Amino acid sequence: MAALWQDVVRDAAAMRDAAAVAVDAALLAGVLMRTGEQPHASDVVNYAPFTLLPSAVPRALFEQAYTVQQDFNLLVDAISQNKEFLEQTLASTIKVDDFTARLFRIYMQVLEEGLAQTVFLGINRSDYMFDCGLDGTAALRQIEINTIAASFGGLTSRTADVHRLVLKVLGKTEEASQLLPNNPAKGLALGIAKAWELYGSQRAVVMFLVEEVQRNIFDQRCVENELWNRNIHVIRKRFRDVFEQGSLDASRRLYMDGQEVAVVYYREGYVPQSYDQQNWEARLLLERSRAVKCPDIATQLAGTKKVQQELSRLGTLEKLLPGRPEAIARMRATFAGLYSLDEGEEGDRIAATAIADPDRFVLKPQREGGGNNLYGEELREVLEKIKDSPERTSYILMDKIKPQPALNYLLRAHSPLQVSECVSELGIFGVYVRQGRELVLNQAAGHLLRTKAIEHADGGVAAGVAVLDTPFLV
Ligand code: ADP
Ligand code: MG
Repeated sequence: MAALWQDVVRDAAAMRDAAAVAVDAALLAGVLMRTGEQPHASDVVNYAPFTLLPSAVPRALFEQAYTVQQDFNLLVDAISQNKEFLEQTLASTIKVDDFTARLFRIYMQVLEEGLAQTVFLGINRSDYMFDCGLDGTAALRQIEINTIAASFGGLTSRTADVHRLVLKVLGKTEEASQLLPNNPAKGLALGIAKAWELYGSQRAVVMFLVEEVQRNIFDQRCVENELWNRNIHVIRKRFRDVFEQGSLDASRRLYMDGQEVAVVYYREGYVPQSYDQQNWEARLLLERSRAVKCPDIATQLAGTKKVQQELSRLGTLEKLLPGRPEAIARMRATFAGLYSLDEGEEGDRIAATAIADPDRFVLKPQREGGGNNLYGEELREVLEKIKDSPERTSYILMDKIKPQPALNYLLRAHSPLQVSECVSELGIFGVYVRQGRELVLNQAAGHLLRTKAIEHADGGVAAGVAVLDTPFLV
């Protein structure tokens, strides 16, 4: 895998010329982000970071990831409907993790009142790395499933065109023609449109629930514009707008300043910092409503690291998806080792193993958005400190995936061009819609490849570590 593009990757002049073409192509194609300096402005923007060259991805693993996506959609949907499983699985976590506990309280409150929502929409992204075995063969290993605000389905729809041009500039016309078309934004919009249609009110709108600071607005606009193309009206609101303008009628239809909302698509709300008291109240209002939430709070909880760890326990998938042994085998084949740090012998043993050999593991809290995991010496120190306290149950341990690095250039505004050893993470977008108990849509909607320099153990594109990439199948 490491050998791809080796005839050009060390040719500094060729790389410099190609980078100049690539940056202009990215701007023309709309691979854009607002800047850190002016995060509220759309009149000063720059290109979103991306690799100069597409990265090699083994074709068989790429196809495996697509094939298993419908299974993961089914699984997430099943978890979201299984109160007993969520209650049991998160029982230890919510004792020590305030954020998960708050979400869980809303979940219980909404269930007690009885769900008004009858149409369900899931948009998730299952992320993988390619673990390199001792014999040099690569295996697909799931990193996590993102069940809320999975991003970059829009910008990634536009990166392949940029890489196609770069390859042509480098004299690789044949390879350029092999880059796959990819348009997750269209697939996500299809799911949102289906949910909107089943909600059944022509006048109702789709509401994007967005952050205070929206640097990644162009990614969201790609999905938004697909909806406008279908003549579906989109509004963008923050939690505090919902607090001020949101209301429910007697049948719990959601209104924003008198305008009915059919679908709430969250691109916010997955970190504690998103919430003050008012925003929690706004979240509760949304969850109580009849509107289709993408995701509903149960589906957000289904995406926690603790749930992921429990799924890897023998017998759990069988209980969640009875009568689906093939789907279960396909999913399990992608699992890395995952370990509970709950109090007791099992947790004591794995904590001791990780302290003795920290480079084998990643320590993960119940957080999203990159930059939260612990590795190596830091993992050892933290685990040493919390190993005898209940606090350790707010974390899980995971086997560290060790991919084969490859050379590439990470193009970032205001950064010098330099070659880096890089590893990639492949994400597959999944979309499904359920009406009552009937699944009416279940699809893989496209892919996202993100690449980072090996010096960084953690962090996504939004966190400023990874950059957008395009898979070149080998
Ligand atoms: P988050 O919810 O913050 O995105 P992730 O589980 O996706 O959490 O981890 C963040 C990043 O850390 C990943 O994108 C990947 O680069 C790295 N990472 C996570 N798990 C592992 C692992 N088991 N082995 C190696 N790297 C990992
Ligand atoms: Mg992640």
